[in-house]
Amino acid sequence: MIFDVMTLFPEMVENYFQYSILKRAVDSRIIEINTVNPRDYTENKHKKVDDIPYGGGAGMVLMVQPYVDAFESIEKLENSVTVMLSPQGEPLNDKLVNDFTKYEQIVLMCGHYEGFDERIREIIKPKEISIGDFVLTGGELPALCLIDAVSRKIEGTLGHIESADEDSFSNGLIEYPHYTRPREYRGLKVPEVLLNGNHKEINEYRLQKSLERTQSRRPDLYLKYITERDTAK
Ligand code: SAM
Repeated sequence: MIFDVMTLFPEMVENYFQYSILKRAVDSRIIEINTVNPRDYTENKHKKVDDIPYGGGAGMVLMVQPYVDAFESIEKLENSVTVMLSPQGEPLNDKLVNDFTKYEQIVLMCGHYEGFDERIREIIKPKEISIGDFVLTGGELPALCLIDAVSRKIEGTLGHIESADEDSFSNGLIEYPHYTRPREYRGLKVPEVLLNGNHKEINEYRLQKSLERTQSRRPDLYLKYITERDTAK
């Protein structure tokens, strides 16, 4: 899977892949991360990528020419999708993340300042994705969220030990609680059922905890899960 990230701050993106699981994925060529800086495509002598908004108002707007030229410089594979990170986009969730794993290439457009000149949207026609109903200073963190979430679903990124199969949302529920050594800390004990080696009982306990947690923390997901489970019966 190739990720081409369009950003004015390439180091912010590149540094993220210097650590842990995603570094391993890059080193073993499961994912490839490229950055493209629209500043390298400016046609004005001051290498300006932003300008004041027509109609007035606060903030600077990303200019259409450098952004579109930078986009067009990226070699597109046949099975490729372009994503604009934007608080105005469709909220990212586990289903969308799974859908993204079907592509060979994702081009990610990070905004900054006040955002994009509208003609960038009109020319490139990206899929717009938001990571939540709040506004960040730039699209780099949202792009990293998307790449991270998609990468860990690609075979080979997580070792068996870090499997994503039981993570929250994979079966429609949020995950059960985890414990590790010691068995007791400040009087708090690890539930007995996790110590007895009976996998049937352990699975039943975990499903029960998952259901309880989902019901109290995410009643919306709980209702969907129960309705789907009951219709499948
Ligand atoms: N003026 C824009 C608006 O109100 O929709 C917000 C611009 S924001 C300050 C600058 C950039 O950060 C955006 O172009 C986008 O790339 C990114 N960004 C900010 N919040 C985001 C979010 N919740 N999801 C995805 N991208 C976001």
